[in-house]
Amino acid sequence: MPSRIYECIEKIAEKIKENKDLLTDLDREIGDADHGVNMARGFSAVEEKIPKDDDDIGVVLKKTGMTLLSTVGGASGPLYGTAYMEAGKAAAGKTEITAEDFGAMLGAAIAGIQKRGKAVQGEKTMLDALIPAQEAYLAKVAEGADIVTALDAACDAANKGIEFTKTIRATKGRASYLGDRSIGHQDPGATSATITLETIRDFLKG
Ligand code: ADP
Ligand code: MG
Repeated sequence: MPSRIYECIEKIAEKIKENKDLLTDLDREIGDADHGVNMARGFSAVEEKIPKDDDDIGVVLKKTGMTLLSTVGGASGPLYGTAYMEAGKAAAGKTEITAEDFGAMLGAAIAGIQKRGKAVQGEKTMLDALIPAQEAYLAKVAEGADIVTALDAACDAANKGIEFTKTIRATKGRASYLGDRSIGHQDPGATSATITLETIRDFLKG
């Protein structure tokens, strides 16, 4: 029987592939039209490489990260690769996670992205979805919310983060070459990050 973590990654892979054209079209506006293609290729490889029956969330996430790192390419490959590997380290040995655990995993993923990409909030990147999502998530957990309720708040914040990316100029990554012309466009990485969070929420709900 496939493990729960395998099924969750599989859902993320499905959703990323479903949104391949959207992500690529967004990247066409302010980048090089490959974000969806990159991510879909990476997650196809993930589907082949991750162990189906290993319940260890840390092991499966680390393998996911390593596979993304070696197959996605572009800026987002190393960043998503690191995010999954760091989340995996935070979940090492666990076969189930609490709301607090997920908060720690998301925090570790963000810290990994920031260490690797040297971006902060407000530079029109995936962090503009992830950082507000993490803040909203932790606030809900502090009130005693369960993981799905907290993820609902996180997804709302991530979607607001996407809207925010339309209003700002890119100062990191390929989109920064456009300067002010990047304003008015939605960031592809913030979009894929939000799709990921929504898929995890829907998986845990279902
Ligand atoms: P590339 O820009 O190399 O073609 P992708 O198109 O796959 O790579 O990914 C672009 C996305 O990567 C951007 O939309 C942005 O969200 C994200 N990104 C780029 N640079 C950084 C960075 N330094 N930190 C965080 N995210 C970044
Ligand atoms: Mg690109």
